[in-house]
Amino acid sequence: MSKPTTPAESAQLKDIVAHAKEYGFVFQSSEIYDGLAAVYDYGPNGVELKNNLKRLWWEAMTQLHGNVVGIDAAIFMDPRTWEASGHVAGFNDPLIDNLDSKKRYRADVLIEEKAAEYEKAGDPARGAALTAEMGRLLTANDLAGVKQLIIDEKIVDPLSGSSKWTDVRQFNLMFSTQGSAVDSEAAPVYLRPETAQGIFVNFLNVQKSARMKIPFGIAQIGKAFRNEIVARQFIFRMREFEQMEMQFFVRPGTEGEWYDTWKAARRRFHEALGLPAAKLRFHDHDKLAHYAKAAVDIEYEFPFGFKEMEGIHSRGDFDLTQHQNLSRKKQQYFDNDIDETTGKPYGNYVPYVVETSVGADRLFLATLCEAFQEETITEGEGEAQTTKQRTFLKLHPAVAPIKAAIFPLVRKDGMPEKAQQIFDDLRFDFRLVIEDKDAIGKRYTRQDLIGTPFCIVVDGQTLEDDTVTVRHRDTREQTRMPISALRAYIGEAVSFKTVFAKL
Ligand code: ATP
Repeated sequence: MSKPTTPAESAQLKDIVAHAKEYGFVFQSSEIYDGLAAVYDYGPNGVELKNNLKRLWWEAMTQLHGNVVGIDAAIFMDPRTWEASGHVAGFNDPLIDNLDSKKRYRADVLIEEKAAEYEKAGDPARGAALTAEMGRLLTANDLAGVKQLIIDEKIVDPLSGSSKWTDVRQFNLMFSTQGSAVDSEAAPVYLRPETAQGIFVNFLNVQKSARMKIPFGIAQIGKAFRNEIVARQFIFRMREFEQMEMQFFVRPGTEGEWYDTWKAARRRFHEALGLPAAKLRFHDHDKLAHYAKAAVDIEYEFPFGFKEMEGIHSRGDFDLTQHQNLSRKKQQYFDNDIDETTGKPYGNYVPYVVETSVGADRLFLATLCEAFQEETITEGEGEAQTTKQRTFLKLHPAVAPIKAAIFPLVRKDGMPEKAQQIFDDLRFDFRLVIEDKDAIGKRYTRQDLIGTPFCIVVDGQTLEDDTVTVRHRDTREQTRMPISALRAYIGEAVSFKTVFAKL
């Protein structure tokens, strides 16, 4: 089946990266010092878009579900947390160096790319067999076997074409820093590699203080840090990034249903936000992490292919049991609901966990890639017909950095004052800007480039009858309406309700 092509599909990552910089969405970190690899800063428009996405996720979790509450845990945690979670021993990536190019790669990524090649060439079965074999070898920690697979598959360095590989080694991805100011012997303190553990160690605090009954969830948005070996593809893979995670605590035996429920709910979220169904897919994990009983990724088709945006994991009671064992503090819940088979309460148990974990930065990148549109516009008729290129960001109005721009047509005749009045009247409701420089066409273009859904023009008629034109970003159509109708009109379009209604 052929897929419809959309402008976003033909957009190159490099165009999106350039656009993101030029229009204040994302900058390379410490750029004046040539930049710190795999670290990025969000600019004035980027931070608004990212905050809107985070708020949307937060409200979709905590406001729409009576049984999901939030926390904000610290980045630093007792180092034993990471022993219990398995990160000290097992949060490794298999790395391999190429002796000719001196470049370092993730062995699993090289193999996955080879499998994707088979799939592209019309042999998905061979691709699937390859990733399954890799999964088997990695689960058995057979690193020599992984290297052999790379050799057998004739995988070469993508840059130099060389096949001179070192052995495969495991590399721990956690960053650490000095713990104690007084004790130089103190154990290192890690920068958390995931936000989940801040939730697990607070499980009982939250359950008791918020009087939660199972099943219930704890949501959190926060920074996480990973010393990624290969950090390419812009903000897709960074060393400092942000996660939006929700751990859902359930009665053992019910985790299968909850896993399916959250899997479907999370996919609906992305579709409601405007990511097309054809560019989203589920990808079951070939190699399960040490904690997982089942795991699936929601992948989005970025300009560089289908890649993970969110993970949904059925973690069993692994984490709480580990913390219970190491801390010697019971991590149990007393369930007084009646078990129909025994006629008695379910009693004490360590709950099972289903987790949804999405990277705020990857959601941001997917949103930006999807929004980036280039079109050719034809204007005029006959001999006078001209064509020009238009670039605009077709962001969902609910997440657009600026909701409306107000333009006085000219800088005189009371139009600037009228524009200011409209601004003052609506600024408690929406993030707005007033623009009075340059011709109207140029001002429209500037707003298109940052994805502002509406431009309100104050003209001569406004001074007579208090109506304005509202120009729509996507269609470029204009509608005339009374100033008094603006609040409801814009409010309807930018409300989170438009997304929530589809969940
Ligand atoms: P990958 O396989 O791409 O390394 P992962 O499976 O290790 O990702 P998880 O541990 O499941 O990722 O983390 C949950 C989410 O956090 C991911 O789906 C992704 O959106 C985000 N994430 C993980 N690592 C990074 C990173 N280095 N930069 C940006 N986002 C990340």
